[in-house]
Amino acid sequence: MVAGGLAADPTFADVAAARDLLAGHLPVTPMWSYPALNATVGATVFVKHENVQPTGAFKVRGGLTLLASLPAELRARGTITYSTGNHAQSMAYASAAVGVPCTVVMPATAAASKVRALRALGATVELSGPDMAAAQTRAEEIAARTGQLLVSPGDTAELIAGVATTYLEIIEAQPDLDAVIVPVGSGTGAAGAGLVMERLAPRCRVIGVQSTAAPAAYDSWRAGACVRRPIRTRADGLATGRGYELPQRLLRARLAGFHLVTDEAIAEAQRLLASDAHTLAEGAGAAALAAILARPADFAGKRVAVVCSGGNASAAEIAALSNSNALVAAAA
Ligand SMILES: *Cc1c(COP(=O)(O)O)cnc(C)c1O
Repeated sequence: MVAGGLAADPTFADVAAARDLLAGHLPVTPMWSYPALNATVGATVFVKHENVQPTGAFKVRGGLTLLASLPAELRARGTITYSTGNHAQSMAYASAAVGVPCTVVMPATAAASKVRALRALGATVELSGPDMAAAQTRAEEIAARTGQLLVSPGDTAELIAGVATTYLEIIEAQPDLDAVIVPVGSGTGAAGAGLVMERLAPRCRVIGVQSTAAPAAYDSWRAGACVRRPIRTRADGLATGRGYELPQRLLRARLAGFHLVTDEAIAEAQRLLASDAHTLAEGAGAAALAAILARPADFAGKRVAVVCSGGNASAAEIAALSNSNALVAAAA
């Protein structure tokens, strides 16, 4: 069966309830402004550090909220999902936290390091098929047979309510922001940001960012209908092949802007976070800063929060960052 007790779209009240649920599991994450970074970009930037979550990404807020809000008899069925990345780790972590089993179906090409991380969190990993669409089909088959709760990474209201707590923390710490920039994959984070800012800070613009090399959410938002696009980005967290109905519906009226950035601009932002914010960001975690670097005039002199959504950079990704000409130029 498909997970999610919330019958309707998530609301601000669900976000407030999620914060209460999460209080016993996760501390408020830090948010800092770094003078050297501000000088470089010409804006007052607040970096929200979701890279320090126990799974290295903000998604754990959603997984814990979903598991904590399920009735005991549903929760006892255990969970199943499909993901190559941080959503899988979130479900594995949250399932373990409430003592229920978790299965993750990944494409056969999934990185060994990710499989290892999931198994260390106690998940059962099944490798199946060439891509995410095949993994989803396989997860649906297993769920139909076993009765495990199938958790969509995008179309699950509790995940949106949970990840939205990031934005409660941001706006409570900095109530007079001009904008918050949110990296978008399935769109749960941006949808949550929209719910919070609409209620608490209507003049704070919520701006989405995705990679030019995987623009499914961006194109879905522009088109007003969910579309499919190829995935060529190396920023895993932004790599979705299709728009998701629920977050797209929430984003339609709540997103003030949506930008695409290149993977090169993302890498430059990763270097800048390393040098000026002593932070290891994965590609998706640096995309919000990349959006400022790409459009400096939009943000000049403004107060802007950027969500460093995750820090799960692979060893190969980290090595590639240090080989770049831009780094050599920056050091000269
Ligand atoms: C999943 C993810 C995103 C995108 O979030 P969505 O809610 O899927 O839009 C951004 N950054 C990181 C690190 C992620 O894991």
